[in-house]
Amino acid sequence: MDIEQFRKAGYQAIDRICDYYYSLEQKPVNSQVPPGYLRELIPPTAPEQGEDFQTIADDYQKLIVPGLTHWQHPNFYAYFPTACTFEGILGDLYATSATNPGFNWACSPACTELEAVVMDWSAKLFGLADHFLNSSEVGGGVMQTTASDSALVAIVAARSRYTSQHPEAKLEDLVIYTTTQTHSLGVKAALVLGLECRSLEVKPEDRFALRGETLRRALAEDAAKGKRPFVLVATVGTTSSGAVDRLGEIGEVLQDHSSIWIHVDAAWAGVTLACPEFRETAQLDHINRHADSFCTNFHKWGLVNFDASTLWVRNRKHLTDALDVTPEFLRTKQGDAGTVIDYRNWHLSLGRRFRSLKVWFVLRSYGAKGFRDYIRKSIDLNTHFAALVRAEPSFSLVTEPAFALTVFRLAPALPTGLPAAAQLAQLNALNRSYYAKLNARPDIYLTQTQLNGTFCIRFAIGAARTTRAHVDRAWAILQEEAAGVLAEWTAQAQEA
Ligand SMILES: *Cc1c(COP(=O)(O)O)cnc(C)c1O
Repeated sequence: MDIEQFRKAGYQAIDRICDYYYSLEQKPVNSQVPPGYLRELIPPTAPEQGEDFQTIADDYQKLIVPGLTHWQHPNFYAYFPTACTFEGILGDLYATSATNPGFNWACSPACTELEAVVMDWSAKLFGLADHFLNSSEVGGGVMQTTASDSALVAIVAARSRYTSQHPEAKLEDLVIYTTTQTHSLGVKAALVLGLECRSLEVKPEDRFALRGETLRRALAEDAAKGKRPFVLVATVGTTSSGAVDRLGEIGEVLQDHSSIWIHVDAAWAGVTLACPEFRETAQLDHINRHADSFCTNFHKWGLVNFDASTLWVRNRKHLTDALDVTPEFLRTKQGDAGTVIDYRNWHLSLGRRFRSLKVWFVLRSYGAKGFRDYIRKSIDLNTHFAALVRAEPSFSLVTEPAFALTVFRLAPALPTGLPAAAQLAQLNALNRSYYAKLNARPDIYLTQTQLNGTFCIRFAIGAARTTRAHVDRAWAILQEEAAGVLAEWTAQAQEA
């Protein structure tokens, strides 16, 4: 393809992307194809002779689009939202047009310098303390691929800090602390690093938040066994229920354990820190006081296209001490002089995408106000949805709504005198069949979870095109399917 052919194909691609967005609402939210559908439609080997690009572009529409689940669909309430904005698409397009691996400042000074600035903009948007700013030259921020990578990097830095402070420590005694509600990134990091991971218990009455007391007990037990916890992954906004660990209590307990690193994973909910009214719930003061590292994803609820995970550390030296490997061919005058950031020493890979460009585009186009308005809109819609659930006697909230997430289930009255375990089993069976009905519908997409053995359904708001009318329509669908399963369930109960 030459430049003029690219110009033509590029215009067509943009036209087709616009048509995709115009038609999005008419499409089923999740793909209706069976597993393996594509293998039958695509030859088993790459073509020997190059093909005409128009044919290739048409095949994208014909073969690929039907296999897409439309995360930008206004009726997408599954998992967590994955942001996509046109500003972000254009940022990625420019970034890829100048493709460069950006590992050293000298690779493309703009890549490093824009990232350093945009990370400071973001830190200020979220109210993070000055020590997290790149301009502090002590701490700083870096963009990673995902929150899982951010956590892995933080844990590697924590381990390196710990083993330098405790050279006698044996690796087999090191322990990563998480909770039963921590995202799988904790266990993943433990697998990758060959370390032990301990999930601390959290309770429904604490809304699944880690308490200081639980941590204190675990520390005492592990000390007695000669184990060495060196990092705690705390969460602001867990995936299952939006729980927020009690960072104040955790910080207090860990005051006497200064070699234990606190990583705060706020992959989803961290962006709410842009709004002053959510900073207390999201524990900004405690993050600033206690966290050694903090991560949130712009690519979930933060208007920036996947991937854009932002990680801040209190002290960049712990990252670079753990990850700086500089063979001769990577040495540069500026790097040797220590006057620039070489981001390759702040993450696992060498090369990196130019991600800050899309964040820069989005933050400038929306402004901090537009960003906050967007977060507030999602939370208002969730408050509206939760009120609908609360008002319906056969439904119940499993936990209090968190940010823009509601976790609920069907909970009709059961015969009195039924033992608790039998009640739980009956309601779980009912909700599983309810969820199966919802999951079979093409016009709405939700996902399920389990909290303490209770099967529940998650309703996560945040797609850019979701309006109150969509939420009301979703609620009508939820009620309609509930009426069906409840009628069947009552009929079965009468037969039994
Ligand atoms: C989604 C999520 C993650 C994982 O995010 P990735 O960026 O895909 O690794 C981690 N933690 C929480 C709380 C999440 O909601």
